Amino acid sequence: MLTVDDFNFENKKALIRVDFNVPLDAEFNVTDSNRIEAAKPTIIKILEDGGSVVLMSHLGRPDGKRNPGLSLAHICDKVSEILRVEVKFVEDCVGEKAEKAVAELQNGEVLMLENLRFYPEEEKGDVSFSKQLARLGDIFVNDAFGTAHRAHASTTIVARFFPDKKCFGYLLAKEIKAIDKVMKTGEKPVTAILGGAKVSSKITIIENILSKINHLIIGGGMTYTFVKAQGGKVGNSICEDDKMDLALSILKKAKNLGVQVHLPVDVIAADDFNNDANTKIVAVDNIPDGWQGLDAGPKTLEIFKEVILSSKTILWNGPVGVFEMENFSKGTIAIGNYIEEATKNGAFSLVGGGDSVAAVKQFGFEDKVSYVSTGGGAMLESLEGKSLPGIAAILEA
Ligand code: AMP
Repeated sequence: MLTVDDFNFENKKALIRVDFNVPLDAEFNVTDSNRIEAAKPTIIKILEDGGSVVLMSHLGRPDGKRNPGLSLAHICDKVSEILRVEVKFVEDCVGEKAEKAVAELQNGEVLMLENLRFYPEEEKGDVSFSKQLARLGDIFVNDAFGTAHRAHASTTIVARFFPDKKCFGYLLAKEIKAIDKVMKTGEKPVTAILGGAKVSSKITIIENILSKINHLIIGGGMTYTFVKAQGGKVGNSICEDDKMDLALSILKKAKNLGVQVHLPVDVIAADDFNNDANTKIVAVDNIPDGWQGLDAGPKTLEIFKEVILSSKTILWNGPVGVFEMENFSKGTIAIGNYIEEATKNGAFSLVGGGDSVAAVKQFGFEDKVSYVSTGGGAMLESLEGKSLPGIAAILEA
């Protein structure tokens, strides 16, 4: 796996695909610069080698048309501030203007290209557009995990034009290593904690990871499909009746593979889907009609705690309750605390995909777990066992 450490960038122009799809406020100020910070080490390494950097990214969804509100010019000041290097900007990402700006770029300088998605060819993975992009650098570096599951021009196809001159940036390399640590080389016992709303959106993940884990903790809205499938009463809880057979087959598969499945035994039930609803603690398989389970109960959390604290490798995807409502966020916060403790005791913990990242950030666990993935969709597809085109394109000869 080649990374920027395998190249000396002296006198070279690095064409880097970054993910600077950052949120902007009404005055076009960057409101969350995490993604820019995350790409900094790769950029700095290249500059320190004595090379120059051409940054390419998308911003928002301009749908193949120029859209001044989504110009990457808006973020150049923020990127300059973070890198402590003045970032130049060119108002196109291919063609004469872009090529001229690149030709004028000196060692130690950074150039930002205009939003790739102003061209429909970007998302279509158009080959001649990719070839035009490829004219803008000597070495291609992919450091955008968030778009690695897309076979777009700048994430995947462009790599073809750099047969021996392509590599991963530090951020993407870290993501790949973190996933491998859970899926391939994780120290046992390996525990996956899967929550979230629906079984249907997690089924491919569960099927893919069962053979790689020792414990499966199931929480959140998914719980009730499993409970009802086994004859329990789930009241008004979220439940996918058409997925009950699937739930039973997962339990059977887990048993055959020797995976211990831990489902909630008690839940915080509410008489409405509302933070101020009346609540009571009930057995997970005996929820009264008119009531719905919205968070893990105390006995459940004790069981989950024991499993998590005895794990050496932990994957967390999906909250175990409706964490957006304060009164139903305690279970998810408790899981974060247990993972923090296990991590302090030496376990490797990876949080990724969808809402678990939002929960981890909201409750301040970001620095207390081993790794928080930067890519929602890309992470989910990795956990589903899919090969990501952006990663495959770098690995291909
Ligand atoms: P996902 O994106 O699949 O990880 O699902 C996350 C969503 O699941 C969050 O918005 C949670 O509010 C929701 N969720 C978690 N537990 C429950 C539950 N018991 N009932 C309904 N929704 C839930």
